[in-house]
Formats: sequence, structure tokens, C-alpha cells
Amino acid sequence: MSELSELYQQVILDHNKKPRNFRKLETANRSAEGYNPLCGDQLNIYLQVEDDQLKDVSFEGSGCAISKASASMMTQAVKGKSKQEAELIFDEFHRMVTGRLNEEKEPNQLGRLTIFAGVRDFPVRVKCATLAWHTLHAALNNQPTISTEN
Ligand code: ZN
Repeated sequence: MSELSELYQQVILDHNKKPRNFRKLETANRSAEGYNPLCGDQLNIYLQVEDDQLKDVSFEGSGCAISKASASMMTQAVKGKSKQEAELIFDEFHRMVTGRLNEEKEPNQLGRLTIFAGVRDFPVRVKCATLAWHTLHAALNNQPTISTEN
């Protein structure tokens, strides 16, 4: 097993066991629900947006380890960022896991999120890894629910 996939497994297991920002956000002024019927993952994303900044981010829900770990790391990655910065990271993440961004060669803001690069080899898992991000995007654009079916 390569070092990268070992790190990947460790991080996924850790975030699955102790998800960060895993609660309902009482101060939320935006939220969205995301559903991935392929796997049965369901997430609620809560945002407190002030002056275009994501002051606070949290999530609740249930799903597989990848969807939960991705949501947990997504909340950490976008907290404190502007809407535009959050959308940029979403775009980079989405391109990385669908094989359209080489995270090692192209400059990006992904940081630790690059551990998810390996899911590009497992198309079914891409929807698990991106569910939280699609739901974040929906919340930022006042869309109450999304399904990754379409
Ligand atoms: Zn899943």
C-alpha cells in the first residue's frame, strides 16, 4: 500500500469517527439538504453567512465514511472563507476527483483535501466525496435540496 493511500485511510477513519463541526448550527441563515441515492448518503449543511463571508459552517447527516469525512473536511476548508473562495475550492475539488485537475502539477487551494484525489479511480465514490460540496453550493445559492442523481 502506498503512503498516500495509507494517509487517505487514516484521515477518512479519523473524520468518520470524530466528524468536525457535526451539529446543527443555531445561527445558520442558509442551509441545504443533499442526497446521494446511489449510496444512501444524506447530509444537511448549515451556513452562517455575513457580509459574503462564511462565518460558520456545520453539517449533520448519515452516510458512508467517505461522504462523512469529506463533509467534515469541507467544513474545515471553507470556514472563514468568502463565498467566492468557497466556490473556487469546490470547483478545484470537483475537477480533482473527476480527473480534470492534476493536484500535483496545477496550483490550487486544496491543501489536505488532496487526499481525496484517489476517488477519481472509483466513479461510484466520486458522488460520495462531492455530496457535501454540491450541498454547500446549493446552500450558497439558496437551493433547499439537491440530489446527485442528475
Ligand atoms: Zn457514500
